[in-house]
Amino acid sequence: MTAKPRVLVVGGGFAGLETAFGLRHLLGDRVRISLAADREDFLFKPNTIYLPFGADEAPLHIRLPDPLFRRHIAFHQGSVSGVDPDALAVELTDGTRLRGDFLVLATGAAMHPQEVPGLAEHAQSVWTPRQMRSLGRRFQELKDAAQAGQHRQVLFLVPPNNKCAGPLYEIALMLDTWLRRAELRSHVHLTWTTYESGYIQAFGPRLHRVVEHEFAVRGIEGHTSAVVDKVGPDEVRYTDGTTRPYDLLVAFPPYVAAVDHPGLPGDDRGFLTTLSVTRQVHGHPQIYAPGDAGDFPVKQAFLAFLQAHAVAEHITTMVDPALLARPRPFEPISMCVMEMFDRATFAQVPLEETGDPAHPVRVAADAGDRYRVGTSPLWRLGKKTLGLYLPVQFRAGRPFHSGRPWQAMELALDGMARTLATGPD
Ligand SMILES: Cc1cc2nc3c(=O)[nH]c(=O)nc-3n(C[C@H](O)[C@H](O)[C@H](O)COP(=O)(O)OP(=O)(O)OC[C@H]3O[C@@H](n4cnc5c(N)ncnc54)[C@H](O)[C@@H]3O)c2cc1C
Repeated sequence: MTAKPRVLVVGGGFAGLETAFGLRHLLGDRVRISLAADREDFLFKPNTIYLPFGADEAPLHIRLPDPLFRRHIAFHQGSVSGVDPDALAVELTDGTRLRGDFLVLATGAAMHPQEVPGLAEHAQSVWTPRQMRSLGRRFQELKDAAQAGQHRQVLFLVPPNNKCAGPLYEIALMLDTWLRRAELRSHVHLTWTTYESGYIQAFGPRLHRVVEHEFAVRGIEGHTSAVVDKVGPDEVRYTDGTTRPYDLLVAFPPYVAAVDHPGLPGDDRGFLTTLSVTRQVHGHPQIYAPGDAGDFPVKQAFLAFLQAHAVAEHITTMVDPALLARPRPFEPISMCVMEMFDRATFAQVPLEETGDPAHPVRVAADAGDRYRVGTSPLWRLGKKTLGLYLPVQFRAGRPFHSGRPWQAMELALDGMARTLATGPD
């Protein structure tokens, strides 16, 4: 290792930025940090759910060079084409070779609709801002048709291997409220189909009951264990032989890793296999994979943050054990707010991995009172506040979880969770 260790972070998303800013926060100038990403901006994906309903996209992008410069983090814009694990080096498509003493591979996930016949051709997918805007145009057409007195069927579809179905639930519930407010809901039939055995399966029975209740009161027809076989131009066929017609099909496709790393161990979808508590890649103690790029079965920004903390603290102990003797392990506690426009549901869910591919996570056996769920219009405020707080932190080059602003946020969230969400019944 050189006098000043070098950390090379690849990816400018939640996991990459939180690791880079977290390392600077913990280690000060004891370390040289570089970050490479194929885009010049960070995209705040969670709030792209508002785009189909007319929200402005510009505030969801944060340019990377300014906050990185502020924290003395060198920025290289370029797409990674290969990793040399022995040399701890990364190759960019323009031929640039970057090296570190530690590598943090935080390149996230990508969609793979091709594995479901017909999905790419016929479904509106929710992933990129462009797809969200295209969905917005389809929603407007739906509204126009309903205003002209025509009836329409909207079918939502979660196929197997989707690793973060929550946003599609939000869009279905928001669409219900949006149509209801326009007094057009009676013209549109909404049907939900998911391969999951329970709604938002990863988050356990309490989230299932919340969604079940919402679907019932909103008149959304819901089906679990509905595994898609193929998608046609106006109907979806499921593996049990049933078919469902649609005028508009909205799907959240299967996940794969965004970048293939042939020299490193990965699972069947290309996600790097890691040691659960440190996110070190198996057999490569100086390479880490926090966030969606790694093999944790649920892909979420909040979990990406927690993994990034574990990585930043682990590297800190390796660089200067006197500074931090014992790094905090990654403890998967998911936190999310599900938007519905008229109210929102908050969930805090301690998770544990099961090793069973059909149900890869479950609510942790020792979750107790930490498993909290609540629905209230006030949780919309919680989601809005998080959406304002994060860009402020990242624009300033600060990690999400740091300093007084986070302490204040944490206090407010904790207070809301105690009054507006309950533990197990
Ligand atoms: C519509 C939607 C709504 C969501 N809502 C929520 C929510 O409410 N709450 C929540 O917790 N999570 C939510 N998520 C999930 C969350 O956005 C992801 O889990 C999170 O973005 C993962 O962070 P990441 O840093 O691992 O990956 P990403 O944020 O995807 O970042 C990956 C980074 O790697 C870069 N990259 C990719 N390929 C290369 C390459 N070849 N070379 C160089 N750089 C590369 C990308 O440009 C990007 O900078 C949502 C996701 C979507 C799509």
